[in-house]
Amino acid sequence: MAGTGKILTLVDLPDGELDETGRGLASYCSRLAAVLDSAWGVVTLVAPAEGPLAGLAAHGVPEITCVADGEKLLDMPAVLGKILAGLAAGEAAGMVVLPHNDLGSTLAPVMAAALDAALLTEVTGARREGPGLRLSRSALGARMAETMLWDARRPLVLTVGLRSLSQVLLPSVRPGNPVVATWRPAELPSGPAAIVTGRIPPDPQTVDLSEAEVIFSAGKGCAPTTFEQLKELCRLLNVSFGVTRPVYDLGWTGFERMVGQTGRSVAPRLYVALGISGSPHHVGGIKDSRRIVAINSDPKAPIFPNADEGFMADLADVLPRLLQRARAARGGAA
Ligand SMILES: Cc1cc2nc3c(=O)[nH]c(=O)nc-3n(C[C@H](O)[C@H](O)[C@H](O)COP(=O)(O)OP(=O)(O)OC[C@H]3O[C@@H](n4cnc5c(N)ncnc54)[C@H](O)[C@@H]3O)c2cc1C
Repeated sequence: MAGTGKILTLVDLPDGELDETGRGLASYCSRLAAVLDSAWGVVTLVAPAEGPLAGLAAHGVPEITCVADGEKLLDMPAVLGKILAGLAAGEAAGMVVLPHNDLGSTLAPVMAAALDAALLTEVTGARREGPGLRLSRSALGARMAETMLWDARRPLVLTVGLRSLSQVLLPSVRPGNPVVATWRPAELPSGPAAIVTGRIPPDPQTVDLSEAEVIFSAGKGCAPTTFEQLKELCRLLNVSFGVTRPVYDLGWTGFERMVGQTGRSVAPRLYVALGISGSPHHVGGIKDSRRIVAINSDPKAPIFPNADEGFMADLADVLPRLLQRARAARGGAA
């Protein structure tokens, strides 16, 4: 093993399931371990059931350490961070990789302080340099790009932006048969600890579009009726709503809903463009979407070559039907 030590990552298993973030972390660490020629493993806060175990095995995870009663500490990140630091120190981990979400971003500084480690947050890229890594990240709300060199002489705690996590299985990854062990800390750390008393999930109707997970956007191809139908569809599906500039210019929405070069740049899991031609000014703002679906009545619309899936259809036909199905799914009148 190279001098970087073991790589440990925390896979949270919300509701006992392996979610996109967990798969992305496994994929990320499998690549890092290959780049650094390091051993690696996953830490969980609950014992993984058959499904998540198979998912982690598919990503080539060699070992899983389950923190006994770890889930009970989720609302006490300071305590959990110290406990996980104790586990990382015991494993002689050279690197701890956390997701840059509410949990990971809180645990990271606690763990870095407890391990006397370097701390780097919201990392976007990493490549080998000497015994360590050259890491890049966006700073100041993505207004600045920063690169940093980690020379591997001291441990590193890093958080990875969720959009930098890909679930793609590398061709070099061989499905494994992970060794699962339970680990119990010798004693719980004492001292004052903040306790999380509540979490309010983001509302897709009001969340900043640049953070939205799923966006349905209306273009000039929407008439006033289809525009209202689309807004209702978004409410029923609990997804975010965007528009193109001509629609904004009509005064139908606020500027914060406009997507594109002068509007918001977005990077959702799914972007659905309805009645949008696909001008460079618009496409420039949606190119980081993971999946783009376009509905347009013109087979030559430039949005189609920019979309993963395209449907040639008239919104006046499609939207009432989508709405009908969404209402039925919500138990309302069809
Ligand atoms: C400096 C500058 C900055 C700009 N910044 C932005 C920006 O940030 N964001 C942005 O969006 N635009 C921006 N624009 C405007 C941009 O160039 C385009 O004009 C705009 O994106 C087009 O919007 P659209 O696709 O809604 O409308 P259109 O180009 O008019 O397209 C409407 C589409 O709807 C389809 N359609 C019509 N009827 C139906 C129907 N019944 N069913 C299905 N499909 C139908 C048509 O086939 C057509 O493809 C900018 C322009 C400039 C000059």
